[in-house]
Amino acid sequence: VEPDPQAGAAVKAADRAHVFHSWSAQGLIDPLAVAGAEGSYFWDYDGNRYLDFTSGLVYTNIGYQHPRVVAAIQEQAAKLTTFAPAFAIDVRSEAARLIAERTPGDLNKIFFTNGGAEAVENAVRMARLHTGRHKVLSAFRSYHGATSTAINLTGDPRRWASDTGTAGVVRFWAPFLYRSAFYAETEQQECERALQHLEDTIAFEGPQNIAAIVLETVPGTAGIMTPPPGYLAGVRAICDAYGIVFVLDEVMAGFGRTGTWFAAEHFDVVPDLMTFAKGVNSGYVPLGGVAISEEIAATFETRPYPGGLTYSGHPLACAAAVATIQVMEDEKVVEHAARIGETVLGPGLRELAERHPSVGEVRGMGAFWALDLVKNKETREPLVPYNASGAANAPMAAFGAAAKKHGLWPFINMNRTHAVPACNVSEAEAKEGLAALDAALSVADEHTV
Ligand code: PLP
Repeated sequence: VEPDPQAGAAVKAADRAHVFHSWSAQGLIDPLAVAGAEGSYFWDYDGNRYLDFTSGLVYTNIGYQHPRVVAAIQEQAAKLTTFAPAFAIDVRSEAARLIAERTPGDLNKIFFTNGGAEAVENAVRMARLHTGRHKVLSAFRSYHGATSTAINLTGDPRRWASDTGTAGVVRFWAPFLYRSAFYAETEQQECERALQHLEDTIAFEGPQNIAAIVLETVPGTAGIMTPPPGYLAGVRAICDAYGIVFVLDEVMAGFGRTGTWFAAEHFDVVPDLMTFAKGVNSGYVPLGGVAISEEIAATFETRPYPGGLTYSGHPLACAAAVATIQVMEDEKVVEHAARIGETVLGPGLRELAERHPSVGEVRGMGAFWALDLVKNKETREPLVPYNASGAANAPMAAFGAAAKKHGLWPFINMNRTHAVPACNVSEAEAKEGLAALDAALSVADEHTV
């Protein structure tokens, strides 16, 4: 593609004129003008091409512009672009079937939303109505979306400004051995103590008041902490003991990201409700939803469910989901994600950790990896403080700039960088990403002590 800096400048000026951006001080941002994208790459108007190790916001699981999905959207647009949710529409039913067949256990009914936060909102609403209880428990290290209840459930600092009404949300510590809240030294200790802490929290909140426990199966934005063996099964048992609805949020971890259709498969656990979005159609058209167990669906068999959205099960979004799932089957994208994690990303990142003093821990699976960057491997002090900005965040900013200089667009959250490429990233692309990370980590190393 021919560089066209003038066109890029015009696109950026038009953005700055009228677009109000998420999570940003509007006067302090400088968004890159993007000219196009394909597969694992995108490019700007100045002749720079980037390997996208973020998959957008961890959602383009089959990469950008997959021709089969683009064609399916075009065909659906020509056939029936939109139709209201109360009607039976072929492509909506087909998307629901394909999703329900892949979710674990008896999660056989699908309520469609436009994205992840709305999925979480509706899962909590279903849990409250099903149990007749109000409180909801979630983990401090979590992200569940930016609408009212979802942001309250979220642990990360982005909720602080919205903490005005807590909506009955109670937060607890989920397991994370590397930065254990329980002084644990082994995965088993971490698991046992985290479960005890959850039981204690429930006892002091009153189990009869608790509608749901909401957890990301593998927390994503908060740091890709694979739960220790037995933890999620333990949470399932606690939920069963107290009649609490178990909600797993698979908005980020679902649809191949961890090398299985849903991350819950790794832990042999079946929640009562499961939220999804992002990878369901690689984000080509906004779509999310809640997969619902038989028991909870039965609650709303004769009693109306008091929730809905104009675009619930939008035909364009559903056509994109049907095509995406078919592509993932035909091209064995889920198996590929598992293999690239085991054979290229995992070993490659661990090798970087050995050579770079700034890498404290490597964790993840599939196409879902985090590097926990530290000032010192012994003390594990994070490379930048929690929620750092400005000068305090300079080491991570320098790391990010170096990655971009080497053609890699990095995912950065606090003191971590996540390697979250498309689930169909090729071996050569993954290796190219590892080489760019290698160079950028040398810059992070300069900030270690
Ligand atoms: N839940 C999880 C686990 C997420 O990672 C996200 C988004 O990153 C959400 C919910 C919110 O999804 P959305 O931004 O589509 O509302």
